[in-house]
Amino acid sequence: MTTVIVATGNPGKLHEMQTYLTDLDWELALKPAEIDVEETGTTFLENACLKASEVAKATGEWAIADDSGLMVDALNGAPGLYTARYGRTDVERIERLLRELSEVSNRAAQFVCAIALSQPDGTIALQTEGTCPGEIADQPSGTGGFGYDPVFYVPSVGKTFAEMSREEKDRLSHRGVAFAQLMPKLRSLKLSS
Ligand code: IMP
Repeated sequence: MTTVIVATGNPGKLHEMQTYLTDLDWELALKPAEIDVEETGTTFLENACLKASEVAKATGEWAIADDSGLMVDALNGAPGLYTARYGRTDVERIERLLRELSEVSNRAAQFVCAIALSQPDGTIALQTEGTCPGEIADQPSGTGGFGYDPVFYVPSVGKTFAEMSREEKDRLSHRGVAFAQLMPKLRSLKLSS
């Protein structure tokens, strides 16, 4: 069993990682609170690599990190790296997005999730980026999920993320796509410390 540090202080994120990273001989652990990594990257992938690498070096263990966000075509890729900081609450963030798109007919957007795994010495062993194409709905619908889910509409299934079952969202979402890409590579990677 190899210890892998999840580069987050959020127990919810650790739990989520556990649901994706099944059948691996890993013991996942939360990042120690005193290790704080500044997200200075200019892309989701850069930030995921930075977090994984810094946490690995600080702990001397393997580390995995993700970074995700929403990119809206008509807003030139915004909110992008500022997705979490686009407003103070989920409601305010959604209201701002809908306000900025109120006169805009091109609603195309995508959710992006980057994941990186670092060796204990800080070298990135694996990295991937999953995307989920969709549209920003005119108004929120659905009660499931979190964050921007009520306004992220996926035309291929005719539902917002918030209207999907947990399983359906896990399969279609940027995070689901990224983990599906990563899993075969993770299974063939032999972790040693
Ligand atoms: P993080 O990188 O997972 O912390 O996510 C950054 C921001 O993207 C947060 O504001 C989340 O609310 C938003 N976000 C990431 N993934 C999703 C999702 O699946 N649904 C809705 N919002 C998301």
